[in-house]
Amino acid sequence: MSTARPVEAPARLITEADWSAALAALRDLPPDPTVLLVCHVNPDGDALGSMLGCGLGLVAYGVPVQATFPAPYGLAPPFDQLPGQELLIDPATAPVAPDLLICFDAASASRLGELADRLDTAGATIVVDHHASNTRFGGIHLVDPGAAATSVVVDGLLDRLGVPLDERIAECLYVALSTDTGSFKFDLTTPAVHELAARLLATGLRPAEISRRLFDSRPFGAMKLYGDVLARATLEPGAAGGRGLVWSYATLTDLDRHGQERHVLEGLIDAVRVAEEADVACVLKQVGTTEWTVSLRSKGGVDVGAVAVGLGGGGHRLAAGFTAYGSVDEVLAVIRSSL
Ligand code: 5GP
Ligand code: MN
Repeated sequence: MSTARPVEAPARLITEADWSAALAALRDLPPDPTVLLVCHVNPDGDALGSMLGCGLGLVAYGVPVQATFPAPYGLAPPFDQLPGQELLIDPATAPVAPDLLICFDAASASRLGELADRLDTAGATIVVDHHASNTRFGGIHLVDPGAAATSVVVDGLLDRLGVPLDERIAECLYVALSTDTGSFKFDLTTPAVHELAARLLATGLRPAEISRRLFDSRPFGAMKLYGDVLARATLEPGAAGGRGLVWSYATLTDLDRHGQERHVLEGLIDAVRVAEEADVACVLKQVGTTEWTVSLRSKGGVDVGAVAVGLGGGGHRLAAGFTAYGSVDEVLAVIRSSL
């Protein structure tokens, strides 16, 4: 467990040499190039929005691209309405040795699942990300831990390429930006974030519609399921060195009972982390008999990113996750002792 640190903008790690290398890699492609864009497994709004927004921008720049992500492949609500889906291909059909590979929102190679082997076969690789824990696993790195979302870096790239924002690119980048800032509420929501949002909205986006789809809309059955999960939430004021832990879990049986699919659980952590008595919030989402996807959040007192890394996952200081195995009690015991 770490002690509270003041909010500070981490050093910007993208140098002019990095930008130049990325621009050169895009400019010096062979005729009829194969360019593959990939983002992390179980992609969220930032992963998909950054990848598809950049993809649409690169097509406008004159570079044909294909985009994909590791299995399980397919877009669920609310991301099934993102522009740029015509660029998506099944990962099973992704080119094996692209001239250029561009990775989005992935902090490490393992987040690229079965597509990570392209890191070895691609002619060149650009890593576009904003995780402080990024392992710099590519050739060219556009990694800015001070960026609120990977889409901030994508905006910087498209700007340097001279590609203007159109409404479709802007919607992708707006979904990415609003997802990773928790609807412009989190720490890294700087004046520059709002300036980017302003430029995106100026293309004609409808923010109310996008925000409702992203944050304020779910099936009635999912709402009832959230009720069950909240009803069984547990508060442990003494956990996390006295900072407090609130946790709950959702099982496959819960999903069945309410006729829901896994993707409806993505917002569950936001319903649990409101408990003011706890600095740390945790939600376990069942994937298999003894397999769980774990979401961790902190209000500032605990570096849950470090906790997640220690348990085989990753993320940011205040929002992180990992995969765990065992019973709910066993997984909670491990988390408690890590906090
Ligand atoms: P969420 O709880 O919303 O699924 O994830 C929160 C953050 O933790 C995301 O920014 C994501 O990058 C990171 N994260 C979640 N699960 C994993 C994981 O299994 N491995 C790694 N490396 N990062 C994760
Ligand atoms: Mn992100």
